[in-house]
Amino acid sequence: MTRGRESLLGPSYFYHRYLVKKSKGWSLGEIREYQESRFQRLIRRYGSEVTEKEDYIQQPGKYTRWDLPLLTHTVRTGGTSGQPLRFTADTFARRQKERAYLFDIWAQVGYAPYDLRVRYAGDIHDGMLRYNRLENVWIISPGATMEGQLGELRSWVRTLPPFFLHVYPSSLYTFVDLIGESLFRSLPIRGVIAASEMFPAGEQARFEQDFGLEVAHWYGHSEYATLAYCCRMCRGFHFYPTYGYVELLSSEIEGCRRIVASAFNRIGTQFVRYDTGDLAVDPDKRCTADNFPRASAIVGRSQETFVDSSGRRRSLFGYAFGDLDHGAFYDQIRDIQFVQDKAGFLRVRMITNPGADRDQIQQTFERRIPMARLEFEYVSAIERSPSGKRRYFVDAPHANEKDNHDHRQETRPSADLEQPSY
Ligand SMILES: [Zn+2]
Repeated sequence: MTRGRESLLGPSYFYHRYLVKKSKGWSLGEIREYQESRFQRLIRRYGSEVTEKEDYIQQPGKYTRWDLPLLTHTVRTGGTSGQPLRFTADTFARRQKERAYLFDIWAQVGYAPYDLRVRYAGDIHDGMLRYNRLENVWIISPGATMEGQLGELRSWVRTLPPFFLHVYPSSLYTFVDLIGESLFRSLPIRGVIAASEMFPAGEQARFEQDFGLEVAHWYGHSEYATLAYCCRMCRGFHFYPTYGYVELLSSEIEGCRRIVASAFNRIGTQFVRYDTGDLAVDPDKRCTADNFPRASAIVGRSQETFVDSSGRRRSLFGYAFGDLDHGAFYDQIRDIQFVQDKAGFLRVRMITNPGADRDQIQQTFERRIPMARLEFEYVSAIERSPSGKRRYFVDAPHANEKDNHDHRQETRPSADLEQPSY
């Protein structure tokens, strides 16, 4: 059945699957040869300036090719990275290409196309669970995990056949906590697929050791310009050379380089020398897995957790942004910040765009975060932290704690990287 379905994945999927396999055996020279001609073509077309999100917001047409109905569709990013960006992407090839690389990453933990996944993320309007037959995935809606619903969730997970658990790194421990650790350990989990954010240093390895489960993890972002897999050998990140061209340029922070990416897509918006806002830490050791460009770590979006009305800690990202930031919803919001002044209570501070439907915004957050009391504040500016960075979460009672077990960190204006339907 699996092989039959894989044939539905499309020509671009098979082409990139072939490239992925082949490129893992390439020398540095062969990688350069593949990338150089594609990169030069982009430079000739758009110039060699390093670009930023603002350039694509101001002049969307300048970087877009073949923007025709049917051929392209609009992609939105938003959420933690501040002002939303809209761009266009290839309707047919993008998803297929994306899957070739994601499936390669997921295969690290034994996943084969269309194996059963249970995804703890997303937003189901009526209820806790939804099964997507096409993708063979169960969705558990984080918004439907109030204390009174946990019994149902726990009975349901007991009935599952072997599956892969698909989460955001920040929601992995929340899921363990909701299910209960001993029940979690007894589940037939084949592996964990952890997308989108970075794990705090060492946490992935700690989890793997503690629970005896392997985690497939990667770095990418929703502009689709670069993608790196987290390597099981060196624990660093390897950037796929056939996905896009990545340059690691010097930054103001010692030991860190800016991740500047150029996309190889031919249709839709072409990101050229695009500063992703994320930082890569230089690799400190050799890795023999392949000759891909590498980083030993990526400093991306951090884990932010809030305390709900039952005293339970939950990851904010999955509730406030996960999946929601790819729909039209965040078009209404120019900037947002969540403030926890006390347990069970969140103040949502927002700068809205003209025409924003405040009722709809409030109802959406109330539906997604029913386990905390929300108060909405419409403001004209959101202050930066003393170091000039924008924070999407402020934990007021703990604001002065330097070090704590929640791994709270400065939030960088990081790009988002999850594809909603996977
Ligand atoms: Zn490696």
